[in-house]
Amino acid sequence: MAEGKETNMGLRPVVAKFGGTSMGSAKAISQVADILGGGQAVVAVVSATSGTTDKLILLGETAAVSGNWQEILNGLIEKHAAITTELGVQVNLKNLWKELKESCEQVQKKGELETYMKDRISGFGERISSNILVEVLKKNGFKAVAVDAYELIFTDNNFGEGNVDFEKTNKAIAEKLLPMMKSGVIPVVTGFIAQSEMGEYITLGRGGSDYSGAIVAGALGSSELQIWTDVDGIFNFDPRNEPRAKVLPKLSFKEAAELAFFGAKVLHPKTIKPAIAKNIPVKILNTFNPSAPGTLVTNEEEESIKSVTYKKGISIVNICSAGMLTAPGFMSKLFQVFARAHIDVDVVATSEVSVSVTVDNGEADKIVEQLSKFSTVRVEKGMAIVCLVGAGIIHDKLALKDLFTAVEEHDVSMVSQGSSKRNITFLVKESEVQEVAKKVFNKFFI
Ligand code: ADP
Ligand code: ASP
Ligand code: MG
Repeated sequence: MAEGKETNMGLRPVVAKFGGTSMGSAKAISQVADILGGGQAVVAVVSATSGTTDKLILLGETAAVSGNWQEILNGLIEKHAAITTELGVQVNLKNLWKELKESCEQVQKKGELETYMKDRISGFGERISSNILVEVLKKNGFKAVAVDAYELIFTDNNFGEGNVDFEKTNKAIAEKLLPMMKSGVIPVVTGFIAQSEMGEYITLGRGGSDYSGAIVAGALGSSELQIWTDVDGIFNFDPRNEPRAKVLPKLSFKEAAELAFFGAKVLHPKTIKPAIAKNIPVKILNTFNPSAPGTLVTNEEEESIKSVTYKKGISIVNICSAGMLTAPGFMSKLFQVFARAHIDVDVVATSEVSVSVTVDNGEADKIVEQLSKFSTVRVEKGMAIVCLVGAGIIHDKLALKDLFTAVEEHDVSMVSQGSSKRNITFLVKESEVQEVAKKVFNKFFI
């Protein structure tokens, strides 16, 4: 390991997570290395290079049908070789590519991409990108080591979205990372992946590297979790869709959680939980504009309306049952069906004779059969949730009126004010959602 400049080790290190675009090119990775070299006690958590996780999933799916997966694999190898050549570093990725190839051969032989295999294959992107960043940091004179989160984060066997065993995980993170940091090494941890109970690679769900960052920060009692991405912070509307959107300097944990949950891709919905548990401030920063102040997320809350977001790909499940309200335990029976299928419910609305529940499109079919055993079920697909977020909603008596005025030309259903009193959500047809969300944005922020 190259000897060189040492970072200033503190007891409460900053955890800095870098997303796919931040790791997406040689230029971006150099920028990440410069940010990490800023002299703070820091642990890096990294995503795969942008587009790689999608390609890895395609690779697995192609192997399962005996398609030309070798071509996809070669494309990935070439893409990463071009990045390392441009960076001027030698990275020994041979063993990882070999292991990936062997996994594909196994999938082809089986003729099926089993969930554990899909997770194993889709996690290679982070294992590769972390090794590349380490070599760049070493070239810059720092001590750095790639740490595979397989050794740090432990979950159950819920492949596709492992549920973390925090006791085991927190212990492993402290035991493995603190000694490294004390000896002046920057650990570069793979985001997204973990170890399942059965000892396989598992993933934390798409976009899950933010969550990995938060898990590491929580375990180390970090002074700050930084989420470095490709925009200047959290905006009052997705900045890629609205040039007039503005960065929010501050948000509360609860507001950020609502935004993430209802579709703002900038933060993975689970990220905030470990941060709240240890009261760790979260900063959203731009790798490509590092001097911008970003968005600070803490437990402080300002009473204003903050942002509009939306989530596509939603189904409404309407459940009718005669005499439902008088039947004790009906609701519990109903939600047990969702819980058993590990399905997250977004919005719930009840009337005297029916309950409407929203779930992701792919999930609805998993529960219809069970629900039909004790009720009449109707599923409406192709819907979207629009969500207005901000602690100010509690006291803004005109918020609902303004909202309805903004969307009066559209067919709106399931209007509900979240129990947190920090959001108003409603459902519209997916085909109209962009237009509707823009109208809400115009009404409240322009
Ligand atoms: P990363 O790869 O760094 O994890 P993501 O693509 O997951 O980045 O998230 C960043 C993207 O989130 C931005 O490019 C932006 O288009 C999108 N986004 C959606 N809603 C918002 C919002 N309210 N504020 C900022 N970004 C948002
Ligand atoms: N690489 C993973 C994904 O694309 C995780 C992440 O980037 O957060 O979903
Ligand atoms: Mg992300």
